[in-house]
Amino acid sequence: MSSEYILALDQGTTSSRAILFDRGGRPAAVAQKEFGQIYPRPGWVEHDPEEIWSSQLNAAKQALRESGVEPRQIRAIGITNQRETTIIWDRVTGQPIHNAIVWQCRRTAEECDKLRESGLDSLIRSRTGLVLDAYFSGTKARWLLDNVSGARDLAREGRLAFGTVDAWLIWKLTGGRTHATDYSNASRTMLFNIGAGEWDDELLGALDVPRSVLPGVFPSSHVIAETDQSLFGCAIPIAGDAGDQQAALFGQACTAAGLSKNTYGTGCFMLLNTGPARVNSRNNLLTTIAWKIGGEPVQYAIEGSVFIAGAAVQWLRDGLRIIGSANETEALARSVDDNGGVYFVPAFVGLGAPYWDQYARGTIIGLTRGSGREHIARAALEAIAYQTGDVLSAMSDDSGIRLSELRVDGGAAKNDFLMQFQADILGIPVVRPANTETTSAGAAFLAGLAAGFWAGVDELGALWKREKTFEPVMSQPERERLVNGWRRAVERARAWEIK
Ligand code: ADP
Repeated sequence: MSSEYILALDQGTTSSRAILFDRGGRPAAVAQKEFGQIYPRPGWVEHDPEEIWSSQLNAAKQALRESGVEPRQIRAIGITNQRETTIIWDRVTGQPIHNAIVWQCRRTAEECDKLRESGLDSLIRSRTGLVLDAYFSGTKARWLLDNVSGARDLAREGRLAFGTVDAWLIWKLTGGRTHATDYSNASRTMLFNIGAGEWDDELLGALDVPRSVLPGVFPSSHVIAETDQSLFGCAIPIAGDAGDQQAALFGQACTAAGLSKNTYGTGCFMLLNTGPARVNSRNNLLTTIAWKIGGEPVQYAIEGSVFIAGAAVQWLRDGLRIIGSANETEALARSVDDNGGVYFVPAFVGLGAPYWDQYARGTIIGLTRGSGREHIARAALEAIAYQTGDVLSAMSDDSGIRLSELRVDGGAAKNDFLMQFQADILGIPVVRPANTETTSAGAAFLAGLAAGFWAGVDELGALWKREKTFEPVMSQPERERLVNGWRRAVERARAWEIK
């Protein structure tokens, strides 16, 4: 019982998880608590901040209880969180003034259109690395200040605190003593100057968010505060904090420039570490802060997302009903020699990078009398790989970096057919790690570094172990033929919805 652990708190969009990591970087205990999704109107999404907190605390207590680990065996806590989700609370009462506005919520889309008309988008891109969109926290914070009765008055009195979910958890964990966030989370607010590494007065003015509500910004790997004694019976250092995708990049040991990870979930999130150099995208990818470790320089990443990836497989199951479970797609895809000329562009909600076409819609094309469900299942998996290929090309174009391998995680990364096809389409090895809990591992690694639990990034690199490497075997002409077919299919899907 003398061994020590790092406790990772992974506060996600649908559940709060707590994972204890041992010194070998192995998950020793996992607990998960789901919480409610609130949909007040079409397109609006909220969470109850108190439920976010209670589910997170209960998950942590359950992980301790079930593993028999004592709180004093926890060297440090690392936090990772759903990004951009916005909470404002009263510093005096500790009460949130409203539900959290979730990253998916579109309530400020019109306001973003107005800001765009006033020419703010190029300023936002240059200062924050982001595109002007309702996705990020800035306009959500403004909405709360403008729409919750009395909020502006309280803000003027200096009573209100704004935060992304990490800041809310730190506030609760410290019994209301610390109002803090980290560089990676700050970089998702649309209020933070990622070059200067500070809140941007011009953007604060344009979005009408007063400086008095903002948290202090700390390195992602740094002892930010200690937990209140009353929670676990002892004070535990909070030593790591990063947004979920950045934490996954760190958990994949992509700690040097040129390393990249892709997470295959509902959509895909691909991040490429560009080191201390900020890369500005020509292809509408996001530039974001990956992390800051102690007093070292900020590290940057470029980020591209695919909206529909595993969700296309869900649609085969729940919409088309041609499969019973996501796993079945692997055997189905292998049961045919090739896609039989069938391409599936899952543009259910338009297309992201590098096409950026919100009027594209899904299409299945190339059907013949010989096409069967196995071709459609195969086309759905292939589409995940083609879309990832499109984002990766945009990243290489932006950064001038030629990737040597892609590290993968997420639910659909379990699919060996998909991973092999991905390697073939990219022409580089695809590497799946033994520990696929990369998000929480990243939070634990950041915390463990600051707490001296692990000696340095090199030691962490050794904890990351490959489970399987998928080497590309496809010939160049074959790859070009397939990608060319995909591109032609994408053209047919574009500009479909009439404006
Ligand atoms: P999220 O965190 O976005 O909910 P997960 O990482 O849990 O996603 O992955 C779930 C997604 O992966 C679902 O969209 C599901 O359809 C897909 N998926 C799960 N297993 C497989 C599989 N074996 N093959 C293809 N897709 C899969």
